[in-house]
Amino acid sequence: SANPDLAPDRQPEDPDAALRPKTLREFVGQEAARENLRVFIEAARSRAEAMDHVLFFGPPGLGKTTLAQIVAKELGVGFRATSGPVIAKAGDLAALLTNLEPHDVLFIDEIHRLNPVVEEILYPAMEDRALDIIIGEGPSARSVRIDLPPFTLVGATTRQGLLTTPLRDRFGIPVRLNFYTVDELELVVRRGAGLLGLDMDPAGAREIARRSRGTPRVAGRLMRRVRDFAHVDGDGLVTAPVADAALTKLEIDGLGLDAMDRRYLTMIADIYKGGPVGVETLAAGLSEPRDTVEEVIEPYLIQLGLVARTARGRCLNDAGWTHLGIAPPADSPN
Ligand code: ADP
Repeated sequence: SANPDLAPDRQPEDPDAALRPKTLREFVGQEAARENLRVFIEAARSRAEAMDHVLFFGPPGLGKTTLAQIVAKELGVGFRATSGPVIAKAGDLAALLTNLEPHDVLFIDEIHRLNPVVEEILYPAMEDRALDIIIGEGPSARSVRIDLPPFTLVGATTRQGLLTTPLRDRFGIPVRLNFYTVDELELVVRRGAGLLGLDMDPAGAREIARRSRGTPRVAGRLMRRVRDFAHVDGDGLVTAPVADAALTKLEIDGLGLDAMDRRYLTMIADIYKGGPVGVETLAAGLSEPRDTVEEVIEPYLIQLGLVARTARGRCLNDAGWTHLGIAPPADSPN
């Protein structure tokens, strides 16, 4: 799905914007990524060069856009943002590239969804800082090479595997983002509560963190919903019971799974007897695009060990049956 953060006209009402860390120091978790970026930023700055191209990959809401903005800020350069599906024609990308100031960061979200013709423009741009433009048509057409200012391309994708090899190979700094631990999310929640002016005790923060699906964006969303319940049903203070009551009303269970996660698990259990079942079949049954199933729903369920991705399809693990509170069928291989 397109990242709403990138539509400039929506920026003022973008609920994520208020919670976005502005510096590497403020950015919670992702220790290895942060440490590496710190070194590369420092090195580029001290040599007064454009930093090498960076690829962030990992599930939605883990901080790819945020880190891209931080990289630009810490490099002290300009930040331009777009996304793969938005760049329709090669000329659109050429216009973006030729308008960059030296050392700027160009952020392309959902870079795996670039149209192949546009992607080809990127190869020489990334490698040789040049654009090869065809001028004219038919027999009189000729290719002209235009030099570009040195720049840093920062790409983001939910699925590294969907990038073409030539594109992937041109990123000098690939950075994987992982789901956050409950301790890390607790820091995210406490920081967010401060920014939102929300009264919260430590146990309340812990409860929201536990149920945030390993994802800061979810933590921010749950915090805002819990705040509504605390103000309307309570005295405004978020305690663990207040958070639990609110999250239960929102159908977020003890593991942080939402109604869609449970529909997914229940479908494998009830209809397919624990699997294996193909992802297309599941997507059709849930009326969700296959991409959503693979990029949004499954990564966290797999991380928790509730389901497994096998060559023959998705299977419910023991932990999955236990979480649903259903006994596996007697003949189940799981
Ligand atoms: P992505 O681009 O990976 O989908 P974003 O960068 O848009 O994710 O982050 C989603 C939300 O989560 C933003 O509001 C951001 O402020 C918050 N967030 C992400 N990572 C962190 C972090 N490490 N610490 C605090 N907040 C974070």
